[in-house]
Amino acid sequence: MDKIAEEAKKIVGEGYVVSDPRILEPYLYDKTEPHVRPKPAREVILIKPGSVEEVSEIVKLAYSEGVAVFPRGGGTGLAGGAIPTKPGIILSLERLNKLSIDRENMVADAEAGVTLGRLIEESEKFGLYFPPHPGDEGAQIGGLIACNAGGSRALRHGSMRSSVLGMQVVLPNGELVNVGNKTIKNNMASNFLHLFIGSEGSLGIIVRSFLRLYPKPMHSATILVPYGNVEKAVDSAMKMLWAGYVPLSLELVDSRSMKRTAEYLGLGWKYGEGEAFLMVVVSEPNKDMLYAEIEGVSAILSEGASGEPILAERKEEQDEILKIRSEIYSAYEKNLFEGLDVSVPIGEAIRFIDSLKKIEEKYGVKFPIVAHLGDGTFHPDILMDSLDREKLIKVREEVYEAAVYLGGSITGEHGIGYTRKPYADKYMDDGLKRLMIAVKRAIDERGIMNPEKFIP
Ligand SMILES: Cc1cc2nc3c(=O)[nH]c(=O)nc-3n(C[C@H](O)[C@H](O)[C@H](O)COP(=O)(O)OP(=O)(O)OC[C@H]3O[C@@H](n4cnc5c(N)ncnc54)[C@H](O)[C@@H]3O)c2cc1C
Repeated sequence: MDKIAEEAKKIVGEGYVVSDPRILEPYLYDKTEPHVRPKPAREVILIKPGSVEEVSEIVKLAYSEGVAVFPRGGGTGLAGGAIPTKPGIILSLERLNKLSIDRENMVADAEAGVTLGRLIEESEKFGLYFPPHPGDEGAQIGGLIACNAGGSRALRHGSMRSSVLGMQVVLPNGELVNVGNKTIKNNMASNFLHLFIGSEGSLGIIVRSFLRLYPKPMHSATILVPYGNVEKAVDSAMKMLWAGYVPLSLELVDSRSMKRTAEYLGLGWKYGEGEAFLMVVVSEPNKDMLYAEIEGVSAILSEGASGEPILAERKEEQDEILKIRSEIYSAYEKNLFEGLDVSVPIGEAIRFIDSLKKIEEKYGVKFPIVAHLGDGTFHPDILMDSLDREKLIKVREEVYEAAVYLGGSITGEHGIGYTRKPYADKYMDDGLKRLMIAVKRAIDERGIMNPEKFIP
């Protein structure tokens, strides 16, 4: 690696090639739970290019030497995707952070290292907003695209895939390719855009992207509805969807998780009683539309509810509820074996919850019920409790089996990365596996790009 480090210094400058283990340490991990993440290789160097051209030069160097490249964004991934599992280069995109907002076309032109938090902030200055919102705003645009990240607003706006119009990618041989542009429709080539989105760093380095923005909805409200049990909550939610309402987000949470998180955050719980809650965010361009939606949604959701819906309209109140919801993961983090993100077709949600209950009984575990219900993604996190590792792995496997049995997926949003590769191998169609391997070989014939991850 010494030779690579010396050559890299000529490209990016002395200060941006790091081999000091103390500085490297935080780059060896992502947010994957310590119990399940892979052991990082130590024979790695960290390189921080400052431009697209420098990324390309570094990748050319890695290609010519046959050295592994591990692309790294904000390191918030939950599947070990950014962890270097063999000797090579950790390629951090953090210095590629140019961002401009094209208000007229409602498009953000963002380099890979721009954080989600900054994109949200800058867009708002122009009266625009970026809908995808996975939980950690320290995630970078390159990482979000590479993982096809989701979050709670996918019900109305889809996951990252629906927000990327175009991008620039540095291929594993260092060549820079433009895929797509700022247009919403573009049929000029095969759809490579969607091949790179969600490819988890296995096919190249995303260096720049054109992202679709929307006018910021001027009026929003959060409706919290309590239910006697989760099944009743799901039933009401389905009735609301069938009636044609598509709120910004539709979340299902059990009261134990919400109260525990409120306590963890030092906030009192003042949002009513019930076993489970539906949390519905509605947002519209004007007040009349908003109130019509609140009225329609509340009427349907009240039917099976165990108490009155709570309507939060003031920003501070809405922010508090959303904060409690988005910090559930952190509240459980210390006691977490592994956070799961399985997805099922939305009509199977009740059957999936039933399967979870059976697994709970069989193994003596208790899953938090936390779901982006609107798109069928569940986070039945596996808590440590007093179980041994072997049993916890069995719990994971039964959750996967239940989701797949119902026509779902072992991962709705966090991705395969390293931790889910054996299960992707198990559940993926054989023909699809062959296609993925063929595409990988065609684009990355030396196999240097994020090896040991994602590809069957
Ligand atoms: C508290 C918390 C809540 C979360 N909630 C959600 C959620 O609701 N929904 C959701 O989808 N995710 C969620 N996540 C997961 C995570 O934020 C996303 O997976 C995010 O997309 C990772 O982005 P990153 O920049 O941190 O990528 P990293 O972790 O750095 O990398 C992730 C993967 O992308 C690759 N990669 C990174 N940058 C590039 C690039 N420029 N080019 C090519 N490949 C690249 C890496 O090699 C790796 O395989 C959550 C994470 C946390 C910690």
